[in-house]
Amino acid sequence: MGTLYTIATPIGNLEDITLRAIRLLQEVSLILCEDTRVTKRLLNHYQITTPTRPYHQHSSQQTEAWVMSQLQAGQNIALVSDAGTPTISDPGARLVSAVIAAGGTVTPIPGPSALITALQAAGVDTSQFTFYGFLPHKKGRQTLLQAIAAADHTIVFYESIHRLEKAITALADSKKYIVVARELTKTFEEFIRGDATSVATIIRQHPTLKGECVVIVSPARSETLAGDTAKPHSRARR
Ligand code: SAM
Repeated sequence: MGTLYTIATPIGNLEDITLRAIRLLQEVSLILCEDTRVTKRLLNHYQITTPTRPYHQHSSQQTEAWVMSQLQAGQNIALVSDAGTPTISDPGARLVSAVIAAGGTVTPIPGPSALITALQAAGVDTSQFTFYGFLPHKKGRQTLLQAIAAADHTIVFYESIHRLEKAITALADSKKYIVVARELTKTFEEFIRGDATSVATIIRQHPTLKGECVVIVSPARSETLAGDTAKPHSRARR
């Protein structure tokens, strides 16, 4: 049986990919992509001509059965998402589970993930954290925000920029330290840090704020972590 490689790809800056990922994307017989048009940009950048095929959350059982038959025929296949690590708030877990159940090999190729990238520069206690993925839009949202407000350790979640201000305002009474990491690894990368009220104010003052973001909610900072006031901080891509 062939191997399924779950390969992490850049979350913005195309240089953020490992040598091993590039080699395997060249060597496998097929790349399963969340969106082939998005992955083609990366493949073109590295002159990789491996055939691609869509695989996403709505892929049928027939598609999955076909992938399994290719693996069983000895083909090595890569799975990538549009950005970051496959299966992390992205499709792939079902396929990985099916390959394991069939006695196959799944080999992870590590690389960027927005949540870890955000934590790398957040300046919060990362010894323990909970990742909630995307917060639900309606059912369960309030309960989860209450749990986040009450948590005694760092919480990380993904949120659309349009719902960001509301989510952070809901944490205003909790006296948490918030970091919004926006457009990571891209030209307009920005970290907005501070208490919930100040961060929500900054977001409100920039109604045209765009892009993708990770939200980190941390208990009040300990003496070992230096104090900070809410301010956006941008830097150009290097
Ligand atoms: N699998 C991806 C990973 O490993 O990070 C996550 C995919 S999820 C569909 C997309 C979400 O990840 C975005 O809505 C945003 O919350 C976060 N994200 C992805 N790229 C980002 C970036 N460059 N900067 C900030 N957040 C990002």
